[in-house]
Amino acid sequence: MAYGKFAEVVLDIPLNKKFHYKIPPSFINQIEIGKRVKVPFGGRTAVGYCVGLTDKSDVKTIKDIIRVIDTEPILNSKMLRIAEWLANFYFCGWGEALETFLPSVVRKGINAKTVSVVRLCKDGASVKEMISIIKKRAPKQARVLEVLSEVGEITFPELASISNCKMDSINRLRDRGLITLDKRKVNDSLFAGKHFKKTCHLQTTGEQETAINLIKRKLRERQYGTVLLKGVTGSGKTEVYLQAISEVITLGLKAIVLVPEISLTPQTIERFKSRFDRVAVLHSSLTDRQRSDQWWDIKNGNADVVIGARSAVFAPLEDVGLIVIDEEHENTYKQDTTPRYNARDVSMIRAEYENALVVLGSATPSLESFYNAVIGKYEYVTLKNRVGNKPLPRVEIIDMRHEKYRGKNQKYISDYLELCMKQCLSKKEQVLLFLNRRGFSPFISCRRCGFVLKCKRCDISMTYHKNKAAVICHYCFSEEPVPEKCPECCSPGISFLGVGTERMEEDIRARFPQYKLLRMDSDTMRGRDSHEKALSAFGRGDIDILLGTQMIAKGLDFPNVTLVGVLSADTIVNMPDFRAGERTFQLLCQVAGRTGRGSKGGKVIVQTYNPEHYSIKFAALHDYDGFAKKELEYRKQLYYPPYGRLARIVLRGKKDQDVKKKSMDIAEKLREAIRLTTGAAQSDRHKDKVEVLGPAPAPIARVKDNFRWHLIVKADNSENLSTILKNIENENRYSKKVQIMIDVDPYMLL
Ligand code: ADP
Ligand code: ZN
Ligand code: ZN
Repeated sequence: MAYGKFAEVVLDIPLNKKFHYKIPPSFINQIEIGKRVKVPFGGRTAVGYCVGLTDKSDVKTIKDIIRVIDTEPILNSKMLRIAEWLANFYFCGWGEALETFLPSVVRKGINAKTVSVVRLCKDGASVKEMISIIKKRAPKQARVLEVLSEVGEITFPELASISNCKMDSINRLRDRGLITLDKRKVNDSLFAGKHFKKTCHLQTTGEQETAINLIKRKLRERQYGTVLLKGVTGSGKTEVYLQAISEVITLGLKAIVLVPEISLTPQTIERFKSRFDRVAVLHSSLTDRQRSDQWWDIKNGNADVVIGARSAVFAPLEDVGLIVIDEEHENTYKQDTTPRYNARDVSMIRAEYENALVVLGSATPSLESFYNAVIGKYEYVTLKNRVGNKPLPRVEIIDMRHEKYRGKNQKYISDYLELCMKQCLSKKEQVLLFLNRRGFSPFISCRRCGFVLKCKRCDISMTYHKNKAAVICHYCFSEEPVPEKCPECCSPGISFLGVGTERMEEDIRARFPQYKLLRMDSDTMRGRDSHEKALSAFGRGDIDILLGTQMIAKGLDFPNVTLVGVLSADTIVNMPDFRAGERTFQLLCQVAGRTGRGSKGGKVIVQTYNPEHYSIKFAALHDYDGFAKKELEYRKQLYYPPYGRLARIVLRGKKDQDVKKKSMDIAEKLREAIRLTTGAAQSDRHKDKVEVLGPAPAPIARVKDNFRWHLIVKADNSENLSTILKNIENENRYSKKVQIMIDVDPYMLL
């Protein structure tokens, strides 16, 4: 029952604004907050969400609501508030944010898929009699009866294929009262026909016990809080999650578990499914029907545990007690289309509304989370040892500057790695070779001393621009000519680095012709289950060498892998991104975690032109704390997160001139805003904390005939960042000429 004359409605448009609509008397009993409504909007009709009811409105001409769509609210008030937060924080429309809360199949509302089932409703003798009567006159109907008298009941499609009949024969038989025809729901439910062997709690290790006890204690407080669980690869973090969830269920509450999409494998699902009865799963390779079923199961209260990728943070659960984020440092938690949210950060907002606990798990926590643990904002607990005290693998660094050239060509595989591969393969053990092709933006490096050209101001690798024959910093737009010789050692061997997996594949095949190699990257793994198939072939031992991108860095558990080779650590180290060092460290630790899992032990070989780089050195020592200390010092100097907050503004359009001009205008507008907020006489202390960098051409300067420019806004905290960014809010961000995109807490700066 409504208590207001007007409904406040938000629409799926890039405007963070509530629109007022009149509630006609006939809808007074239907309208409710959290229901969807059909409304007239700009000469068309649109679907919106009712987020409030009010008696007052100063809008002059108010239109009527056309229809109330939902019979029950599809979103509760907590979810509406979370969407509002999203809109304010990430600068998108409130309605736009809500669209991500509901899977599109739920929004569209697909009907239950049904199949017709045909059944005999007369006894055998009378059917036989009937058959003989109609055989001549209606042979098709007789055939149907014959089939049915054998099987009793059958679906129509099956019957049609056996007896070659059409629907009209069936209808006639039904009219004579010989058969019945019913609709039955098709069962393509996610777990249909699957059986999960029940498992019980494992006998925990001491470290696990400590972590579980801490989490249980926090859960019983029933208050918002966050626990960072740092555990080396193979330390048994999942068992901690499982026992924590068990406590949640005992308390009568529910849990959400977020995992990166790529680790949402049948094995992961099985681990949860075999421990708990009521588990729902949300991920991208479900069929529409399955996704819709899972969502409604959750909404109707039939799930205690939801496991899913990023968007499962919006799962329509009531009484959430725990949100687990596994591999919390992963950048897949950040969505790269509007709304550009980070599920890790959203989970905390949700937990606040639900009085729930967030558990962040990782072997290599993001610096943001680690910092919050250090300053006491999060509880902090660590698992330092692998289960069964298996040692972490030995990591050896190969200095590629000492490798001799093969003729004119740069060498991609060192003699040492080649030797180790031969040894490993001859023992029938397996090799994993890792090459990050993401590092495609060309950087400049000296092949003799490993020197990499960086911007003096931003400490970011300079990117080579061929058309300008210059190097450019993609943060602040400083430009320099390409140096002729190395500024460090004066050697003329300065060049551009970067080689892809495809090229590597040829190279390795030529050198190891007798072994089976498989390349895994986004080009070779297009099909829905090609990833799954390739991995199971590797698991069976059908493949000797697996060569791949970050796709193979995570979660794989193959005891026969005794050698991991990182072909070039430099492609990540030199990405034009302030997180390049962090990414390198994380990736090397993840990759190293792929070996030494069985009884045969394992070894990791890292090839690099930067053997002194702290990320590589600390990763080789498995020393997270050492790395984090160093990395935090560097971040602090330049006010990069976690000491400051960033936003990135990307502009794109068909004409480079227009885009450039608009970028400059916006930069000027923002600089003006900073002058106003931080005072005209800006102190030096403040100068690097709150500033606008750029505009500069984006590292990927052209996409589909659109020119791209970007600027970066740096602020000391998120409130100030928000205040500054509000100045762009009224710009026409979706004009035909130049489109403006705002990315708060960006992950990718390309
Ligand atoms: P992580 O996620 O920390 O890398 P996992 O949770 O995958 O580690 O655990 C690694 C392996 O150790 C798994 O095979 C798991 O079943 C096993 N394991 C975890 N805890 C225990 C335990 N307490 N006792 C025996 N085995 C365990
Ligand atoms: Zn040099
Ligand atoms: Zn710079």
